[in-house]
Amino acid sequence: MLELNGKVAFVFGVASEDSIAWAICEKLAAAGVILYLGYQKRFMSRIFQLKEKLPAIAGFYPLDVAEDELTAEFFTAFATENPGMKADILIHAIGFAPKGCFDRPILFVENEDINTAMTISANSLQRCLRHALPFLNEGSSTITLTYAASTRFVPSYGIMSMAKAALECWTRELSCHLGPEGHRINAISSGPIRTLAASGIPGIGKILDHVAANAPLRRNVNQDDVAGATLWLASSLSSGVTGQCIYVDAGYSITMVPEYAIE
Ligand code: NAD
Repeated sequence: MLELNGKVAFVFGVASEDSIAWAICEKLAAAGVILYLGYQKRFMSRIFQLKEKLPAIAGFYPLDVAEDELTAEFFTAFATENPGMKADILIHAIGFAPKGCFDRPILFVENEDINTAMTISANSLQRCLRHALPFLNEGSSTITLTYAASTRFVPSYGIMSMAKAALECWTRELSCHLGPEGHRINAISSGPIRTLAASGIPGIGKILDHVAANAPLRRNVNQDDVAGATLWLASSLSSGVTGQCIYVDAGYSITMVPEYAIE
């Protein structure tokens, strides 16, 4: 039993219908979860349109994890409109690296660009959880999204590889810090999927083709695959799981030598 009916979720990272976080919203909503979205102001009109498609969205407030105060804004707005309410699930589906992280070899990426990528794509998990904690029920489940370039080389992913490695480390550290209070924090390592964020990765089309041809399942994953695993991690079915990085990648990460190498 999923037992999610009437639970409350904060979902951060919806920018469009292609967003992995949007598929997660749909999946959580189907299980009876009430949703509160944190959105970047530049996507406001899109969020207004999407809200019409999902009645489970009970509220949506601006959130920018680049600054502490702008992160706090979301929780102030949530608490003002919903006094005394707390959430059971936090979805952190946020990633960003400036263009300067991708348009030159990693040796020459500017410090400022590295810092931005690390702040938004990795350290924001800590920032979100710190602000969210007073509004989380005991036994909450937080799920963040990562990518396998955290542990293995993927050409063109560059600084985002470092950010994802740090994000996975935050997942372990925070799960140990908050575990004694019953909070769980896990990461899902998704295979590549065409989204707004992915379109910024040079060569993403070729990476998708390569994975589809060589993953054990001989296909790419989609938003729905990731949302399914997220639903499990959000529910009590995964009650003994924390600090983990779960791969939803059609099995690609377990391969080393592609079949074509020996043909
Ligand atoms: P997306 O572009 O739909 O989502 C990225 C989200 O990050 C957007 O909603 C954007 O508003 C938000 N964001 C960026 N900067 C922010 C800031 N300063 N404050 C608040 N929000 C901010 O793309 P997506 O692919 O759905 O990405 C979601 C997560 O999944 C990211 O962490 C991404 O790295 C991860 N991921 C994606 C893939 C893929 O191939 N698409 C693979 C593995 C992991």
